[in-house]
Amino acid sequence: MKQVLCYGSEAIEYNLQFTDRKTLGIVVHSNRVVDVKAPIGSSMIDIESKVKKKAVWILKQKDYFLSFEPRLTERQYVSGETHLYLGRQYQLKIIKSTIDSVKYTGRFIEIYTSGNIKVEKLINAWYREKAEIWFYKLAEPLIERFKRYNVCPESVNINNMKYRWGSCSIKGRILLNQELIKAPKACIQYVIIHELCHLVHRDHTKAFFDLQSREMPDWEKWKHKLEQFLA
Ligand SMILES: [Zn+2]
Repeated sequence: MKQVLCYGSEAIEYNLQFTDRKTLGIVVHSNRVVDVKAPIGSSMIDIESKVKKKAVWILKQKDYFLSFEPRLTERQYVSGETHLYLGRQYQLKIIKSTIDSVKYTGRFIEIYTSGNIKVEKLINAWYREKAEIWFYKLAEPLIERFKRYNVCPESVNINNMKYRWGSCSIKGRILLNQELIKAPKACIQYVIIHELCHLVHRDHTKAFFDLQSREMPDWEKWKHKLEQFLA
């Protein structure tokens, strides 16, 4: 049963279900769907007042996901343009060459190009290569650490998701957005830890956040960094 609760300027939509339970339970799923389970026989007034009391918490949960709006600024891929790698800014330097290759030195990402392949393609292939090295390097010790909870991801892969930094399927397949290679290492670790926590707790419950805080006490800082970094 779909319900809507108006809270200030926000409309909180939720699915209401009556089940055989003693107390009201609220779960905010990673796709931002809110499920409310109420004991059979509870009144709508009672349910609404209870959901209202939790409204701030619900809205907060919705903000804690790893979703983002894609960046709107177009890249030109010309010399002098700033590009990021592991949280640092580098200037593009396009150099004519017979062989296509990418190197980074000091403050520069140097693109040696024969002109046959687009600069955008060359740099993306380079990012991909770096992502493969760094994501696994950063994930390995974390996966090892999570074995104490008797969990282990089925796989860790890189993907170009449009709206998410990472995801974890029910089967335990973790996907990391290739764009993360542009962020500081701790931001990448935060996303990996977030997904590993999902192997223990599927939803963003209090238990989930308790675990995430235990595994990365300053995760909020890195979450904010990740968001700023996109602006
Ligand atoms: Zn999550």
